[in-house]
Amino acid sequence: MREMHYEAPKTVEAALALLSSAQGLAKVLAGGTDLLIEMRSGLEPELLIDIKGIPELNVIAVENGGFRVGAAVTCMELIEHEAFASAWPGVIDGIKLIGSIQVKGRATLGGNLCNASPAADSVPALMAAGSSVNIVGPDGSRQLRVEDFAAGARKTSLAKGEILTSFLLPRRLPHSGDAYLRFTPRTEMDIAVVGAGVNLTLDDSGVCSEARVSLGAVAERALLVPEAAAALIGTRLDAAALERLTFAASAACRPIDDKRGTKEFRIKVAGVMARRAAEIALARARKS
Ligand SMILES: Cc1cc2nc3c(=O)[nH]c(=O)nc-3n(C[C@H](O)[C@H](O)[C@H](O)COP(=O)(O)OP(=O)(O)OC[C@H]3O[C@@H](n4cnc5c(N)ncnc54)[C@H](O)[C@@H]3O)c2cc1C
Repeated sequence: MREMHYEAPKTVEAALALLSSAQGLAKVLAGGTDLLIEMRSGLEPELLIDIKGIPELNVIAVENGGFRVGAAVTCMELIEHEAFASAWPGVIDGIKLIGSIQVKGRATLGGNLCNASPAADSVPALMAAGSSVNIVGPDGSRQLRVEDFAAGARKTSLAKGEILTSFLLPRRLPHSGDAYLRFTPRTEMDIAVVGAGVNLTLDDSGVCSEARVSLGAVAERALLVPEAAAALIGTRLDAAALERLTFAASAACRPIDDKRGTKEFRIKVAGVMARRAAEIALARARKS
């Protein structure tokens, strides 16, 4: 086994300097709930850069009427943040599904996105919410929509030396609601076979004026499905609109076959999950 170094910088600048000076493989360590498992399976970084002690990465703050969430904020901190949870119940639906209470106490939103699993539960909900991320690196900072972050299964669009620092969730319009649902063979501690996120806004007469629909675990990365959103916009989510949504969600899938679900099953269930998530988002929008 090779020698491994552990560093816990207190600023983003110090973390970036460590990343750029590393000779061998350097890995950012957040909660470690994915990374430590990879290391047990043989990954041997030369340098671990623990970002949990960087104060600015641990903040949940109101910004331009929306929320700025630091990349090292844990799932439990978000679940317990009343204003965030009431603004974005669908994002919380996704976060609540991540592992056990113990896992959620360590796991971060940044780690869930940066691990780039196509089945990550917070990611479709963050995409439906219209979230973006802030990334910093040797050349400064840049912003990216969450849907553009994953480059494929277990691949991100982070360049060498870059760190994800925060998420920005937009201002919530009145009469808006979101929801995330997943299908798993077991009720807890399982990986999504299909996940679906819906975020929508109603106008004063109850007609859907904006919508975003996303799917997880049905392609090499989570997908935003504009055709499914278009099925809802301009409607009251009547039976015909929900039928079109179901069809569009299923049509967008390009899943794999594995022991947890066949392609055909995933395609069918994606439509069902999207429809059910839309119904929950609608009920939440009517109450807000
Ligand atoms: C028992 C168990 C059950 C689980 N169940 C679920 C589940 O139901 N749904 C689900 O989605 N996930 C699940 N997970 C996976 C995991 O908990 C989540 O993906 C979690 O959000 C990862 O966050 P973390 O902070 O632990 O990431 P880490 O393990 O610290 O990091 C994950 C990856 O992201 C990189 N990284 C982390 N933060 C940054 C950053 N800010 N900038 C750049 N790179 C970064 C790391 O280098 C690493 O490659 C489960 C894990 C366990 C152990």
